[in-house]
Amino acid sequence: MSNLLPTAENADRCAAESCPAPAVEAYPARIAELGSLKIRRLLPVRQRRVIGPWCFLDRYGPLSFVDGRPMDVAAHPHIGLQTVSWLLSGEIVHDDSLGSEALIRPGELSLMTAGRGITHTEQTPMKNTGTLNGVQLWVALPDSARHTAPSYEHRRHLPQVELSGGIATVILGDMASQRSPGSAFSSMIGAELRVHAGEMLTLPLHLLSEHAILLLDGDMAIERQPVELDTLYYLGTHRDEIALSSRTGARALLVGGEPFAETILMWWNFVARTPEEIAAARVAWEGHAVFPDVPAWHGGRIPAPAFIPRPVRPV
Ligand code: MN
Repeated sequence: MSNLLPTAENADRCAAESCPAPAVEAYPARIAELGSLKIRRLLPVRQRRVIGPWCFLDRYGPLSFVDGRPMDVAAHPHIGLQTVSWLLSGEIVHDDSLGSEALIRPGELSLMTAGRGITHTEQTPMKNTGTLNGVQLWVALPDSARHTAPSYEHRRHLPQVELSGGIATVILGDMASQRSPGSAFSSMIGAELRVHAGEMLTLPLHLLSEHAILLLDGDMAIERQPVELDTLYYLGTHRDEIALSSRTGARALLVGGEPFAETILMWWNFVARTPEEIAAARVAWEGHAVFPDVPAWHGGRIPAPAFIPRPVRPV
């Protein structure tokens, strides 16, 4: 971890929980795999496990391909979270155990609320543009929503906030009185930001929320400090705006929300509260219970790894 700007004096305390003041902390991605696709994982990192309710962030692409299908994730389960798929280019087909099927294109929200349990697959379609570039995120569900029935939403039209120097597309949650049609269960924002070439965008933020920004392409500076690709910049709380600028134009992802009040336990594809819940979900998946098959999927199910729970944000 390196600090881009002077951080709050209680930086160590910030490292394990939401920072009670403005900060700019840089967290470089680590390389991981999603099926056969190499990805850069921005969340969780050891020092920064959740930002608002956002508990997982993978970045993949941009890549071009002639043969094969780079997004190739076989049937696997989720509980206690929402998955968000967001593309900058290319396409993905989502199928799930509710029978939902959606062809996701750039600028469209693929939002799956796992609730008490769902199975899904994500694949590059046979007919494709030969490109793939995007992010996948998870949102932790609060206790009041995590046992609900699973559901799936494909939102093709999302609100945009026109700002001096750029534009924000509201993926999930709300910004400047614009609210995404995607179901949100706690106070949050997920937005794609465009900063126009040679301009400065002043982005409105919720004062009591924490936020982070990931540069997706182009060049960008946060409060006039240049930032790197594949690095998550945590901004802390107590900001009502932040200044983003670009010489050649930039796209970036904003995630944030009110600091998540519950201690979550994240293991494999599950978000829960106790090791017993995780173990039960694992047994259910391995035993072919709770998580139905995906009707459109004729491939295998991804086996659960051995159970070694890792606490997230321990109290
Ligand atoms: Mn998944």
